[in-house]
Amino acid sequence: MKIYENIVIGGGASGLMFASNLREKRDTIILENNSKFGAKVLISGGGRCNFTNKRVYAGNYLAKKSFLKEFLKEYPSSVIFDYFISRGLNYTVKNETQFFCKSSSKEILDILINGIKGVKSSLNCKVLSVKKRDDIFEVDTTNGLFLSKNLIVSSGGLSFAKIGATSIGFDIAKEFGHSVNSLNPALVGFTLQPKENFFKELSGVSVDVDVKVGKKSFSGSLLFAHRGVSGPAILNASLYWSKGEIEIDFLPNFELFSIKGSKKSLSNLLPLPKSVAKAFLSKLNIDDKNGLNLSKDEFKKLEQLKSYKFAPAGTFGYSKAEVTKGGIDLDRIENFTFESKLINNLYFLGEVLDVTGELGGYNFHFAFSSALSCAKYLNDKSSIFYG
Ligand SMILES: Cc1cc2nc3c(=O)[nH]c(=O)nc-3n(C[C@H](O)[C@H](O)[C@H](O)COP(=O)(O)OP(=O)(O)OC[C@H]3O[C@@H](n4cnc5c(N)ncnc54)[C@H](O)[C@@H]3O)c2cc1C
Repeated sequence: MKIYENIVIGGGASGLMFASNLREKRDTIILENNSKFGAKVLISGGGRCNFTNKRVYAGNYLAKKSFLKEFLKEYPSSVIFDYFISRGLNYTVKNETQFFCKSSSKEILDILINGIKGVKSSLNCKVLSVKKRDDIFEVDTTNGLFLSKNLIVSSGGLSFAKIGATSIGFDIAKEFGHSVNSLNPALVGFTLQPKENFFKELSGVSVDVDVKVGKKSFSGSLLFAHRGVSGPAILNASLYWSKGEIEIDFLPNFELFSIKGSKKSLSNLLPLPKSVAKAFLSKLNIDDKNGLNLSKDEFKKLEQLKSYKFAPAGTFGYSKAEVTKGGIDLDRIENFTFESKLINNLYFLGEVLDVTGELGGYNFHFAFSSALSCAKYLNDKSSIFYG
């Protein structure tokens, strides 16, 4: 039976980047659960894949900071930016720092797929389990058994099972003795406790807010959704939330005392969509009177809008989450090579590791750069062996 040099589990962002950058491609096979590669890349960034960010720091990630700091020194934003731009990607910048494909995510996927010419693949191939016998990995799949000397696990996290996500990467890690830190949906909306049920009536409306969660704070929009709250500021907050309250300033950059003494009505004075202002006034039991007639107590109640304490009931879950936070503990992973410290020739890349970025291109940045770094290592290693 054929023994491949490399088996890559998962043809998503990191798997494709890894295989693209191997010098010796012919002896490599990608096993992919879907009928096509890169399904998540295609739907990412609202269809335009936010592939990296002008400023990528360890502070933008939930991860072991020392590991990531060292890694990002060698793999800053420019490495990923230059990689794609030098291959003809047209890009656009959003929110000053986020790099997106100019027209569609397909542009970046085409570059990745072009890169894997010469690599073998098996599509609609779900990996079920892995064993290692006498230095050879035996990979059991729905398309039969595959054997290899190196095993590269780039199977991503748990979010979006409908486009191929499975727990296989975490299962393999545990099978080989790695710890997997608690997994949770992240970059995801929050569901509501009964106290906030009035939010549901505002479904579809979006407002600018500042959100504080622990020591982190995010500015951006909050979208009232059918099931709860979503939008960039909330998605970022979800990365750092596990339970308890977050604090929302619904009136960022607004001095509330400026409404005192005004002859205009409160719903006109508050810099919020009218429906939102009215919903909060009603919740706080304040009539939509003019600023002049506002009592001291009512003013105090209104101040809650500057630091609204909100305890989410939970999140929208993996079917809506952009990423899985938690993952394979970095303590047993070599930096730069991404090889297991426990099992020779076993590598883990991308989201399956305990590295989760904020919104803004950080997750692709890590998926792509961990893959590049690992491929470089294997290329160097094979030139040492074979000259
Ligand atoms: C809607 C959405 C939008 C996003 N937008 C952005 C964005 O704009 N910018 C950003 O930085 N991040 C974004 N992300 C996050 C980003 O897509 C991921 O972090 C990134 O794709 C992780 O790369 P990966 O290679 O680790 O995993 P993936 O890209 O998820 O690839 C894993 C691959 O493994 C395959 N696989 C899984 N299990 C098996 C199995 N048992 N057998 C065989 N194959 C298997 C999967 O089908 C998949 O193709 C978004 C995510 C979502 C869901």
